[in-house]
Amino acid sequence: MLADMPSRPSRFDPAHIPFVTEPEVEYGAAVEMAPGLRRVMANNPSPLTYRGTGTYIVGHSRVAIVDPGPDDAGHIHAVLSAVEGEQVEALLITHTHRDHSPASQAVAEATGAPAYGFGPHPAVDADDGEAEERGDARFSPDAAVVHGDMIEGPGWSFECLHTPGHISNHISYRWREASGVFTGDHIMGWSTTVVPPPEGNMADYLASLRLMADRPGDRVYWPTHGPPVTEPHALVEALYAHRLDREIQILERLAAGPQTIAEMVAAMYADVSPALHEAAARSVLAHLIAMVDDGRVGVDGEPTAGALYFRG
Ligand SMILES: [Zn+2]
Repeated sequence: MLADMPSRPSRFDPAHIPFVTEPEVEYGAAVEMAPGLRRVMANNPSPLTYRGTGTYIVGHSRVAIVDPGPDDAGHIHAVLSAVEGEQVEALLITHTHRDHSPASQAVAEATGAPAYGFGPHPAVDADDGEAEERGDARFSPDAAVVHGDMIEGPGWSFECLHTPGHISNHISYRWREASGVFTGDHIMGWSTTVVPPPEGNMADYLASLRLMADRPGDRVYWPTHGPPVTEPHALVEALYAHRLDREIQILERLAAGPQTIAEMVAAMYADVSPALHEAAARSVLAHLIAMVDDGRVGVDGEPTAGALYFRG
């Protein structure tokens, strides 16, 4: 019946992103997540980290550790206790935000393991100081990796997938023997990913979503925050459709005439708590920067938080 049809296609409805939740976690314990895979949760839950940082330990007796986590003595102790009597061969860093890389220093000192990663925290001129607050300026990889590199150990091997967008130095690590990917903050099951300009780049993010969508052999994702994603492709496609929908909404707003981000957000997020409007504004800015770049949107001056935007 036509009267019952939703006004928008359901695939554009964020409610149709197949989010997964994790009602309870045990902090500090090494919990088996899959054969040969353990996770130690850091007790740093927040609106950005969900239940906290999940540090993964891959293998037995000679292991690799993915995202050692925040500079938190309790968490570092829990990770080192989990691998007591084992040889740590590699530290795999997805990116240089403070809930991911800082503990690598203490874990490397204790174990002698080299840290792999794309590179140090990017230098950006943030106008709000927030990017700096989130960044780990001290991290520098012992071994810099690029897209396609392999990291091999006894019984495990990882393919490095450069997945910029959330931040330019983001690497996802595909554990080949398990056909699963440690997706860091690039793709998470519990939430959409924050893409904060200037270190975040929406055009890169969309390209990195396509990169994951075009990998049919990936069977499961283990994000750094939240539970495993066992239907990864349905999630990637829904996340991608969600971002395209935002762009359509922005173009719809601008069809009515030039607008500021504040005006767009007030209309686009009318049914969302005003407490979330600031984060929404940053996301809209990320889209607008990309859309100005490819010519779909025009701007009076530079594409900033306070600029006036119009149809390109
Ligand atoms: Zn991050």
